[in-house]
Amino acid sequence: MKVLVTGGAGYIGSHVVKALGEKGHEILVYDNLSTGHEWAVLYGRLVKGDLSDKVFFDKVIKEFKPDAVMHFAACIQVEESVKEPLKYYRNNTANTLNLVEVLIENGVNKFIFSSTAAVYGIPDTIPVDEDAPLNPINPYGSSKVAVERMLQDLSQTADFNYISLRYFNVAGADPEGRIGQAYEDSTHLITRALKTAKGEFGKLLIFGTDYSTPDGTCIRDYIHVDDLAIAHILTMDYLLHGSESSRFNCGYGHGYSVKEVVQTAKKVTGINFTTENTGRRPGDPPVLIADSSRLKNELNWKPQYDDLEYIIKTAWEWERKLDHGSIRQG
Ligand code: UDP
Repeated sequence: MKVLVTGGAGYIGSHVVKALGEKGHEILVYDNLSTGHEWAVLYGRLVKGDLSDKVFFDKVIKEFKPDAVMHFAACIQVEESVKEPLKYYRNNTANTLNLVEVLIENGVNKFIFSSTAAVYGIPDTIPVDEDAPLNPINPYGSSKVAVERMLQDLSQTADFNYISLRYFNVAGADPEGRIGQAYEDSTHLITRALKTAKGEFGKLLIFGTDYSTPDGTCIRDYIHVDDLAIAHILTMDYLLHGSESSRFNCGYGHGYSVKEVVQTAKKVTGINFTTENTGRRPGDPPVLIADSSRLKNELNWKPQYDDLEYIIKTAWEWERKLDHGSIRQG
């Protein structure tokens, strides 16, 4: 199949490109390289472009004629979204509108959207399933909900099928150490913890110890990026076999607190790095755990790496590789 992947040079997109490439698909990555890297694209062709440039994107679609499009290109930092909401509505919502308009104009009607657990806000029921109400509590989540609603409305009237994959906390790296998270300033817990272990930061801040959870810190459902990548392959096959539009939670169905993640990171690295308890980070829900039975039952998703230690180990090997400078900075 011919698959166009926006944001395919980024962290999650590049792991999905790897999985697509291993299955022999023809891939075109469309990425503005604002946070992604040329070296991260292990398969297919990379075209540098921005989704705000509809004319150029239209040209790329006309030339490549994809069977399906996977859309990863987005801004993803909750705290930044609170400070700069318009950046999120511009990059995540308005640019997706541009993209979808071009797809419709060119008759491309199979679309996989990178959504997020942040669409649920603070769920009433844990684990949260796909039918839970969408009540985002930060602009990042709102910018994704706006797209989900747009896609739903569109699929009612147009010949257009989409699947929204709602990611919980994606972590880990390629077990062969070729790709991994390489943002300039990652704010994610596991990456921060490992960078602290490496000595890049003097201490790891623990944001909030007064949540109504057993140890007072937030609980998240951490999923290995390669298990998430496989979910995309299954989703694409499902769409191409004529499925209806749908949405799936992507997580393992159980969670770990910030303190448990820190303990595991200390164990994996063998480094007793310093932590400091501090206030809550704006926009953080206390507990997010996926009910992913729909993904398991309908798509036969069988996760391989449901093991926090393994997730952190692959991330740690990647971090150390970055440290040794053996990754080209593209
Ligand atoms: N967190 C933390 N210290 C950090 C980074 C994150 O205590 O340096 C906490 C954060 O407040 C949240 C959890 O770790 O409760 C997961 O945050 P992350 O940014 O990794 O993912 P999110 O759930 O926001 O998508």
